[in-house]
Amino acid sequence: MDVASVAAVTRAIDAVTVDRVKERHPRAPLHLESSTMPSAPSTASATESLTSAESIRLVLDTVEARNPNEPEFLQAVHEVLESISPVLEAHPEFVDGGILERLVEPERQILFRVPWVDDAGRLQVNRGFRVQFSSVLGPYKGGLRFHPSVNLSIIKFLGFEQIFKNALTGQGIGGAKGGSDFDPHGRSNAEIMRFCQSFMNELYRHLGEHTDVPAGDIGVGAREIGYLFGQYRKVTNRHESGMFTGKGVQWGGAEVRTEATGYGAVFFVEEMLGVHGETLHGKRVGISGSGNVAIYAIDKARQLGATPVTASDSSGYVVDDAGIDVDLLRQIKEVERARISEYAARRPGARYVEGARPWEVPVDVAIPSATQNELDQGDARALIANGVRAVAEGANMPSTPEAIELLQSAGVLFGPGKAANAGGVATSALEMSQNAARQRWSFDDSEAKLRAIMADVHDAAFQAAERYGRPGDYVVGANSAGFERVAHAMLAQGVI
Ligand code: GLU
Repeated sequence: MDVASVAAVTRAIDAVTVDRVKERHPRAPLHLESSTMPSAPSTASATESLTSAESIRLVLDTVEARNPNEPEFLQAVHEVLESISPVLEAHPEFVDGGILERLVEPERQILFRVPWVDDAGRLQVNRGFRVQFSSVLGPYKGGLRFHPSVNLSIIKFLGFEQIFKNALTGQGIGGAKGGSDFDPHGRSNAEIMRFCQSFMNELYRHLGEHTDVPAGDIGVGAREIGYLFGQYRKVTNRHESGMFTGKGVQWGGAEVRTEATGYGAVFFVEEMLGVHGETLHGKRVGISGSGNVAIYAIDKARQLGATPVTASDSSGYVVDDAGIDVDLLRQIKEVERARISEYAARRPGARYVEGARPWEVPVDVAIPSATQNELDQGDARALIANGVRAVAEGANMPSTPEAIELLQSAGVLFGPGKAANAGGVATSALEMSQNAARQRWSFDDSEAKLRAIMADVHDAAFQAAERYGRPGDYVVGANSAGFERVAHAMLAQGVI
């Protein structure tokens, strides 16, 4: 679409929005007529303003019209907006300040070409993304994902979630996400390095320790972060140690950052169970995935006396009633980069199930740690039928909305990703602090800090849920607490 047609579509959407508001609410506040113009402080009384439900509906309509081909982004926006109605009722100034209208539109979106040459001398072209969603609480912060499924919808959903997750940690970090549709599977080390260098040749100009601080995500681990950081250093001629997180501990990385997302998810489960006087000790835990989050969730669950019985990849899952052997799993997945079936082949008593997800295995606690929408209605039914007590999302948005509804209405404790997997990015913020102060904290000290942060994240979500009349609903709690913090900051900083 050219610039003129984009402008025409935008004008049409604005016109539709304004007409709908006028229809439903003839005396709606003026700011809706022009969301880009600073408005004078509204003199409308609360009764003249839109109700929170109307305001949310209008924003959702606009988001759907503007982003018709972005199902994951729309899913993430629906999940947040539909749960924060009580916050808007308590804070009409958020409606009048156009907070929702502004939040659903990224501050900046960067799309770029990533050309590179493979080992056979063939030219390859991938697409690079960085969606800088919100910098109201701090520099843009969020990972990079390299996976063939990556597209704008996926990056926008991840970036949108990141705003509220990061806010919930209580730290000074904004929300962003990026990545590429590059598939690292089967690529040589030299190809990975050339790809990372080409990716950074464009992205560097949009980054900086006070501007945007990326980290890893699916397909981006210590190796890729090393290559990306190295190229940034070369092209900028600056060793900005706080420009990336998840760096190697030998050169500016923080202890516990690697383990943090998985460890944090398990700590979050302990917090949820603790409210009911229970612990993880002696419980069977079902975990999906076999990447960084899954490996360290398995590790910490074992340390706390639970038995993690499953792990998976896109080909199938393994079940090991004796408890997954983390060292063997790491060897297969991180060193050999082989399929999960290899685990069952080498471990007596373990079984491999091809082409299925692990949720059919009876467990007390489930920690989906693979990818988005990997736990659907049918999976939720199976977990409930087997008596699951708690589900905590190690991945971003792994449960479908229908699955969440089923789990919550069956009384299962449900920890959404924004809270349960916030330990990763929270520890990234600890890495930034150490880089800024040129300090290094010990593993034990860092783990104790992570544990305290997860307890705070839990309490913030738990208390917000109580405050807004939905006790025990961590989805409402996490979204409300994160949103409140962002919205207050946006109001204070003006129409930007
Ligand atoms: N990709 C991780 C997440 O989803 C970590 C982001 C970061 O550390 O910046 O939260």
